[in-house]
Amino acid sequence: MAVDFSGKAITGTFCTRISPGCQHCYASVINKRFGTGLEYTVPNLAKHEFFIDEKILAEPLNRKKPARIFVGDMFDLFHEAIPFRLIKQVWDVAAECDWHTFQVLTKRAQRMREFSQWIAGDDHISIAERPRNLWLGVSAEDQKRADERIPLLLQTPAAMRFLSVEPQLEAIDLTPYLEDPVYEISLVICGGESGPGARPFNLAWAESILEQCKAAGVPFFMKQIGGRPYASKDSPSFGYSTLVFREHFMKDRKGGDPSEWPEHLRVREFPQSQLPRLEVWACKSNPSPRLLHKTKQLY
Ligand code: SF4
Repeated sequence: MAVDFSGKAITGTFCTRISPGCQHCYASVINKRFGTGLEYTVPNLAKHEFFIDEKILAEPLNRKKPARIFVGDMFDLFHEAIPFRLIKQVWDVAAECDWHTFQVLTKRAQRMREFSQWIAGDDHISIAERPRNLWLGVSAEDQKRADERIPLLLQTPAAMRFLSVEPQLEAIDLTPYLEDPVYEISLVICGGESGPGARPFNLAWAESILEQCKAAGVPFFMKQIGGRPYASKDSPSFGYSTLVFREHFMKDRKGGDPSEWPEHLRVREFPQSQLPRLEVWACKSNPSPRLLHKTKQLY
């Protein structure tokens, strides 16, 4: 795969699946239908070129009002095919824009760790001195991925660390990580899956994560209950309205309306009370033609 360093660039709209949480990747579907036309498959990787669009890269610099900025919701910034030198450009903008808060979520915790070590060596400064306004997080859709990725996140310097348990695919024990005596997890986001082929979401799994967070004093954010929530008999939600067969009755097909959830799950906490509104930077979930024509393909 060729990489264009000279172009005006942004990390493009492409990724490849890495774990079960990626099975129904919405970004792949959007990119296939409205973007570059490429599904996120390994063979297609050779047809895509990652590059940085300097105009978009500069957007946070030009935005003076403090914002909470999610870096790329259509790809994984730490994908193996994105060179560290490109990622560093994103890092440098985040460092410069200390009035914004940047959130980076990855399934590639090992590579994020390696990047943090590389950039520390590159700059000859302590990795602890990297941007204070960067939140780093990992996805943990099942216990195996939690046990693989969270320890790596805890070893990676960050202003704040968060977990995205979404789409949650099974019961997960986060206790050892939430109660880590040295490093802190500052937020846990939880959710089910939605869209075609969505996998079932047992509300008992979310209830367990909520209880773990409460016990550890970690903020919990219930993002949505997905398109196929159900309540097993061991769940406090069992018997709640028609929830067991909610997929047939929910008005919000993504389970994103808290008023349709059991009351005890309507929890949306943040590590800070006054956070700026969340915005997406780098790629948009519904890519604009302006962005798409800059996402170069090689056929
Ligand atoms: S890492 Fe994220 S963007 Fe990449 S394939 Fe998986 S779900 Fe999609």
